[in-house]
Amino acid sequence: MRLDLHTHTTASDGVLSPSQLVALASAANLDALAITDHDTVVGLAEGVQAGLNHSVQIIPGIEVSCSASGVPCHILGYFIDYQSSKLSDYTSRAIRAREDRMHEMLSRLANQNVMVDMDDVVKEAGPECSSLGRPHLARALVTKNYASSIGDAFDRLIGDGHQAQVPIRVLEANEAIGLIRDSGGIAVWAHPRLEVLQELLPELVTAGLRGLEVYRPKSSPEHVRKVKTSAEEMDLLVTGGSDWHGPGLGAELGAFYVTPDDISQFLFEGRVSF
Ligand code: AMP
Ligand code: ZN
Ligand code: FE
Ligand code: FE
Repeated sequence: MRLDLHTHTTASDGVLSPSQLVALASAANLDALAITDHDTVVGLAEGVQAGLNHSVQIIPGIEVSCSASGVPCHILGYFIDYQSSKLSDYTSRAIRAREDRMHEMLSRLANQNVMVDMDDVVKEAGPECSSLGRPHLARALVTKNYASSIGDAFDRLIGDGHQAQVPIRVLEANEAIGLIRDSGGIAVWAHPRLEVLQELLPELVTAGLRGLEVYRPKSSPEHVRKVKTSAEEMDLLVTGGSDWHGPGLGAELGAFYVTPDDISQFLFEGRVSF
């Protein structure tokens, strides 16, 4: 049994539509997949339907951008009621906030004589996107020859710490966790950085955080061990996922997976059975 609990689609900054992602997951021998787009639930109905067609169990999810004590962080929500008004309201707020933020980033880039229009970014994002993000901007920068690759665009122009990067400020972490819990979901801290893990964990747990994303293809064995130890100490659930965005962007879908044994308590709490 192979599971991947962190993937993106064209609803946010992934390259494949929810149906295409699920079809590929099936071909890549994954038995279960969580679809966790950034700040949007719009891809989930299509993804769940595709799961039925392809016999892949779909866990509806979201990856909420927020900040904890001023530190940007991502909180995954699993088993969410994606038809709830709370989540559609949040998606609408986040769409607008991300559009405003993109305008601000474009004007900061223009100050550096890097001329990209909103239309260029929207074209890269495609008609199914409801969550404009830096990867779309990175693609536009490559198309317009301001960068040689997506990685180059982040390294030189829009990565964290660069003048043109504008943080997304919609929710504080406690609000993000509250939103997920109010929508029937389980909140899990995505790709926690070791530098801030111990500092932020108490406030996140107090807010209702239930788990840590431990297993990731990019994490070293030492990183995995440390996050897992923290999860055990704080009585938190353990999850894992690839954070897959598209073909050719890192490890291929299905190359990384977790097994039911790795995440048994999470599956139990989510009432998942195979
Ligand atoms: P945003 O939510 O708009 O700030 O975009 C964040 C997303 O950008 C992440 O989820 C990654 O998919 C992508 N990203 C962040 N840093 C890099 C990087 N250095 N190279 C490529 N993609 C990145
Ligand atoms: Zn992303
Ligand atoms: Fe993330
Ligand atoms: Fe992600």
